[in-house]
Amino acid sequence: MVPGLVPGLLLATGQVLPVSSVHRLARTSTLVRIVMDAQGQVLDMGRKVRLATPAQRRAIFTRYATCWIDGCPLPATLCQIDHADNWSSGGLTDLKLLGPACQFHNRDRYRHPDRYTRRKVGKDRWAFTYHRLAGVRRPRE
Ligand SMILES: [Zn+2]
Repeated sequence: MVPGLVPGLLLATGQVLPVSSVHRLARTSTLVRIVMDAQGQVLDMGRKVRLATPAQRRAIFTRYATCWIDGCPLPATLCQIDHADNWSSGGLTDLKLLGPACQFHNRDRYRHPDRYTRRKVGKDRWAFTYHRLAGVRRPRE
């Protein structure tokens, strides 16, 4: 130990958190990965949080004009924020994996993921194509 220094964690506030408190937090806390933009707005929340932050919503509305299902005209600002990979299946609440989906498509894609194919559009967007009767056999004529 360096003379004159107390072991602990230097906080952004300038205060030193005693090492005993660091140990207590390590035992009783969960680490959360959070990515922020240059203005300090949260963009990536990982697995800890399911719902998009207001900053994520604003960023999504600048990337998408409508629901991210091809041909659906509902404006993005009237959509729910959807996870490209279903959150309940391990999807992340990260900006690059979020987009607008109208209530119908959000629910339908969750219930019938086999009816949709996903493709990347540009650097930072996704689009989904709905396949109306994928997996459903039509009766013979
Ligand atoms: Zn839609």
